[in-house]
Amino acid sequence: MTSHGRDSGDSTMSSSEENQSATGISTLLTGRASRLRLVTCVQANDFGTCPRVLCEQQAVLPVGVSDVPGDATVKLFCPRCNDIYTPKASRHQHVDGVYFGTTFPHMLFAVHPEFRPTQQVTHYEPKIYGFKLHATAYEEMKKRRDVERDIETAVASMRTARKY
Ligand SMILES: [Zn+2]
Repeated sequence: MTSHGRDSGDSTMSSSEENQSATGISTLLTGRASRLRLVTCVQANDFGTCPRVLCEQQAVLPVGVSDVPGDATVKLFCPRCNDIYTPKASRHQHVDGVYFGTTFPHMLFAVHPEFRPTQQVTHYEPKIYGFKLHATAYEEMKKRRDVERDIETAVASMRTARKY
């Protein structure tokens, strides 16, 4: 938004003005002072924490998934699991992601690696009665279940045939 636009009483922005504004804000976030101000917000959990249990409430950072204004709302990036999430807070659900851009968190950690979490990513391990599942377990269980269903269907049709 330009000061000229405000002075003239024009409260609406044209699409090109919005694009320039969003690009300007996104560019500003890559500046040192803005980056550090946002780090303070992230450390204060202003954007919330990762919803993934094994990330142990890791603070998340705002990120856009598109650099085109109006394309998508802001998302939250977890630097521990390297994934993005839709914010739960309603105040974030109407913010255009382009204001943060697709670059911000990655630029931040490139310039300030000391802010990157040092804990290793823990992956969830599915178990049944304490036993880890083999990589092909679901496939094998599905095959077995399909065979059982075929037998059940065949038995049911034989019972139906006997009635007549
Ligand atoms: Zn996470």
